[in-house]
Amino acid sequence: MEEREDLEKDEYLIACLRELVKIPTYVPPGENYGKIVDWLIPVFDDLGFECERIEMPKDVYEARQKSAELSGERVNLLATKDCGAKESVDIYTHLDVVPAGEGWSTPPFDPVIKDGRIYGRGVADSKGSVASLLTALREMKEQDLKSKYNLRVALTTDEELGLYSGLCFFADYGLLKGDYLLCMDGDNEGVCIATNGVMNWEMTVYGKSAHSSIPFSGVNAIEKAMLVISELNGLKRQIESRESKAPCGPIMRELTGQEHIKPVFNVTMISGGIKENVIPPSCTLRGDRRYIPEEKVEEVITELEDAVEKIKATQGIGIELHCKPGFPPMFAEQSGEWTKRVQDAVSDAFGVYKPIIGVQGGLDVAYAVQRTNQPVCAFGVGCFVDCNPHGADENVAISDLENYVRFLVGLLT
Ligand SMILES: [Zn+2]
Repeated sequence: MEEREDLEKDEYLIACLRELVKIPTYVPPGENYGKIVDWLIPVFDDLGFECERIEMPKDVYEARQKSAELSGERVNLLATKDCGAKESVDIYTHLDVVPAGEGWSTPPFDPVIKDGRIYGRGVADSKGSVASLLTALREMKEQDLKSKYNLRVALTTDEELGLYSGLCFFADYGLLKGDYLLCMDGDNEGVCIATNGVMNWEMTVYGKSAHSSIPFSGVNAIEKAMLVISELNGLKRQIESRESKAPCGPIMRELTGQEHIKPVFNVTMISGGIKENVIPPSCTLRGDRRYIPEEKVEEVITELEDAVEKIKATQGIGIELHCKPGFPPMFAEQSGEWTKRVQDAVSDAFGVYKPIIGVQGGLDVAYAVQRTNQPVCAFGVGCFVDCNPHGADENVAISDLENYVRFLVGLLT
């Protein structure tokens, strides 16, 4: 009997996840938020929730998020249920996914099950957690399990894009009101309480165009950019020798020998040149700087500006720098009551002790709690090393999804 119930639960979980993945909410462009929210509303209705379809106002969207590569309305879902409890919890994750990209061996938007794992874009990041939440709420309804918290579910837009996601809008407009915040985005290695902040940067290195047969009459901006990259290596070493107080997870520790999360400085893009026979007049370098919670964004910007000024002065190179700060860092209380409750529920459900960890990536929830000051932790559905989120053949173990359902039921009841 119990086996049969498990099977039905699994069927519902997998069916939900399939439907969610089939609605292609990849961003850019992020065209199908309305569609996925319209699919979710009747499901939450059936579970006794009141649903609000909340579109980011056009003026806010245009001022803070819109770019040429985006289209469609920014529709978010807020589903609330008063369970007559004393405390309330906001449960959050994002509805967008990254584009499929190349190299898939299964159809990215039509999930396939192989060897106990389900494959498709977003199954781990982060639609698996949405399907698990729906399954947990359904189980609570069927078994008449009362929630310890009043529930506020926020499923929002554009996390993968950064800048001003639906959750940032929710935080600024007072829509996050829970006593606690559970972020279902991220990894299941441990209960995450710390993240790095993100700052993208772009620098244009200037030269002077000339006929390539007489290169001495120009200045080759690509060659100058190579010099800039090698000069920036000193800054990279200096930045990456720092560390946060936030512990890193066990897998990260094993892979790198690090005990704590670290800041990062990368050059990740380069473009320049007009034609094979033209000395390039400019070359653009781009990259990101991920800064630990102990660093301030103003200092991060000044540090890079100073390094660039020094290169300009010592090498006589023309450089223009633009810094674009993204989500801030997060460092929640390690021994807080909410963290402890989540850690206990997680460890019970998975049958192994899950540590409190920090990660070197960034999350939009960091922006939200900077506004709301809510106690927060993040715990997602899959292990990032196995799941390949953002890559080809993104997948998640069905057993991890089942454990996630158990975790949510345990935490909420
Ligand atoms: Zn995510």
